[in-house]
Amino acid sequence: MHKIITDRLKRNIRKAGVAAFVLAGSLCLCLPAAAAEPGLQAPATEEISGKSAEKKKADDNKRLMTIEDYVVEGGGVFGSDFYELEEPEEDEYDKVPGDEGKAGESMGAATDDWNLILVNKQHPVPEDYEYNLTYINDSQQIDKRIAGQVAKLVSAAEKSGIELMICSAYRSYDRQTTLFNNKMDKLLKSGMSYFDAYRTASYSVTIPGTSEHQLGLALDIITPGYTALDSGFADTEAGKWLKKNAPDYGFILRYPEGKEYITGIIFEPWHFRYVGVENAKYITENALVLEEYVELLE
Ligand SMILES: [Zn+2]
Repeated sequence: MHKIITDRLKRNIRKAGVAAFVLAGSLCLCLPAAAAEPGLQAPATEEISGKSAEKKKADDNKRLMTIEDYVVEGGGVFGSDFYELEEPEEDEYDKVPGDEGKAGESMGAATDDWNLILVNKQHPVPEDYEYNLTYINDSQQIDKRIAGQVAKLVSAAEKSGIELMICSAYRSYDRQTTLFNNKMDKLLKSGMSYFDAYRTASYSVTIPGTSEHQLGLALDIITPGYTALDSGFADTEAGKWLKKNAPDYGFILRYPEGKEYITGIIFEPWHFRYVGVENAKYITENALVLEEYVELLE
């Protein structure tokens, strides 16, 4: 492997890092309150040089598989630079999908609004849920209705000198199932009973069907300087910026500190859920979680 890396190769390395990071991140753990995983550290980016595109792609795939195993093991997340998101045109800027002016019980928000769908252990993703996905980069998808809002959020942060990295967006049922089964296999092989393995696996990998990431409306967001998925992210500039500003773009900090008894998920300062701007502001200003807000609307 060459030691001298050209700019182009550096870009490739970064790209590979992002792809790896992105897929690793797509496993981001939405941890139930009972068992926090230890902080996830970012391993060093590997050098790649002199490979054809195809070979590189094959290597990337191989690499991603390794990372998948690694992350399922509670290992880590790869960090690198961010990718370009397409910002909406100027005249599209004021249009907010989902909630134009609606918030709270008296303002027209309703529990059957697409952006207020509740998914948790008690409310799995409906079998007939209609997906409206779009790619935001080579490997990550989100609900296309919120793509513009994601871009606005990232761009607004950038203007404040904050670099955001989306480490997890849409995650398919199959992928979630694979992750869960991998975890189960390892626990069963370690001699656990089926019941114990299921319970233990559910602490670190959300049970298939109950992850908000399966809607394409949730994002796990971190920053290059802090790639650990732990509560320490809340104290970073990015964590603080997101907490304060995400509602302006329709996102709520979905699993806040102190509401674990309602959400069933530990404090996740990196997990944001799109609910629409007015709803997000209402929920945040009134220190609610989505479960409480939906109940309020019922
Ligand atoms: Zn998440």
